[in-house]
Amino acid sequence: MNTKKAKAKRRLREPRFSFKTMSDVDVLDDGYKWRKYGQKVVKNTQHPRSYYRCTQDKCRVKKRVERLAEDPRMVITTYEGRHIHSPCRDGEDSKTPSQISFFC
Ligand SMILES: [Zn+2]
Repeated sequence: MNTKKAKAKRRLREPRFSFKTMSDVDVLDDGYKWRKYGQKVVKNTQHPRSYYRCTQDKCRVKKRVERLAEDPRMVITTYEGRHIHSPCRDGEDSKTPSQISFFC
């Protein structure tokens, strides 16, 4: 019968959403801690695209930050994945108090 492999090719898709913000700073404070792990030059703009990863252990959420080519005042933030923890301002992450007070 029909054995199309398109059906079997189901990849785990991370939830993803992005939004635009008019902002001077590239990285918006969203309550989470991020570590930059990459950067890529984007064509047609002098602003590089930056890649961040949530610093929380076992959390694999990624964030992508870039400037809109047509309007560099706009920042496009794209999140990929879902946090398995609360943002640090919720006070749930009480194991590392020194880091929290530094960030929040
Ligand atoms: Zn996280």
